[in-house]
Amino acid sequence: MEGCVQRKVKSIMNMNDSRSKYLKKKRNFQRKSTYQENVLFRKKERERSIRTYVENVFYREKAKQRSSQSYRENVMHREKVNKRCLGRYQENEAFRKEHKARSIRKYCDSILYREQVKKRTRHNYAVNLLHRDVSLCNKFKVKQRSICKYAVNLLHRETVKQRSTLRYRLNEVPRQNVKAMSHRKYGNPEHKKHVIAASTQRKKEMKEKLQQFDFVMKQFSEKVKDGPDFVCCVCQRLLFRHQVLQCKRENYMNRKDVAAVADVCISEVYLHKCNNCVNPCQWLNTARDKLWICFSCNDKVSRGEMPAECAVNKMGLDPIPPELACLNNLEQHLIGLHIPFLKMLALPKGGQNGVHGPVTCSSKYCANQQFAAPF
Ligand SMILES: [Zn+2]
Ligand SMILES: [Zn+2]
Repeated sequence: MEGCVQRKVKSIMNMNDSRSKYLKKKRNFQRKSTYQENVLFRKKERERSIRTYVENVFYREKAKQRSSQSYRENVMHREKVNKRCLGRYQENEAFRKEHKARSIRKYCDSILYREQVKKRTRHNYAVNLLHRDVSLCNKFKVKQRSICKYAVNLLHRETVKQRSTLRYRLNEVPRQNVKAMSHRKYGNPEHKKHVIAASTQRKKEMKEKLQQFDFVMKQFSEKVKDGPDFVCCVCQRLLFRHQVLQCKRENYMNRKDVAAVADVCISEVYLHKCNNCVNPCQWLNTARDKLWICFSCNDKVSRGEMPAECAVNKMGLDPIPPELACLNNLEQHLIGLHIPFLKMLALPKGGQNGVHGPVTCSSKYCANQQFAAPF
């Protein structure tokens, strides 16, 4: 009995369902035909739709999903959209600008999109001859424009030079590429002649410029702008950037005796290795980040000789005890056990002082001063 009632209820519900579906279909059909025939209604509907799209997030997302699905599945719709878009892109300046900006933004932000674009371009270049021609033409045009801008715009030229120098200094691969290209080009006798002439001219100009005080001063400031922060990994002296070169162990591996000397002399005491550093590490891209070697140590080690000033040759300095490290210049002189007498001169290069002639140290009795000093 109960089962019979349930079946009846179910059949009534099915009837209601199919009826409501029928009514819905009918309503939609009527709406569609009114939309096609009545201009005013069409306008009103469009406005309502745009308003809802702007105000209602849920509706917007749903519309986007529906549109993407149609674009993916319906070929006719896809072609129609593409055609409409292309027409708008060709005719409408504002739309074109906006589209380009959006595309550039997306290319910068999304790695996936960037890879897709590259893949598509490569494919088009390989398959489509017309595209290849257009692409080559564009490349040529861009190159021409770039050359012209470099020749005319001084600021642009300086920016390009700076960027190029930085890239050369920091990245190994571009540096090797530039060197290889330079070697290749040097094989050409005409180019070789040109390089030698340019070098001679440059040397001559430099000789003339070195007579001008401003130029020498500027050059000096440029050299010392980084400060003496570079520690030679062999003699452990603090030096300026132009006094050192980057130390690479593989450079000393060609000969056995050189490799043995390099192994003994090169120390990594002052090389910073990240260990529990705050991210990003404060020593990153600084002098402490790499191993440096001064020119004189490099020459000696490359010849397989141990440099006389090498720290391993008992020339390393002991750490200053904290009781002495905290004293100022005057305090240090007051308690000094010896007074050195020496002749100091400004060295011609590097802006540092040097000692000339013999040094005399006279002993000093400072027991009374030690007790009188306020520490
Ligand atoms: Zn050195
Ligand atoms: Zn670190």
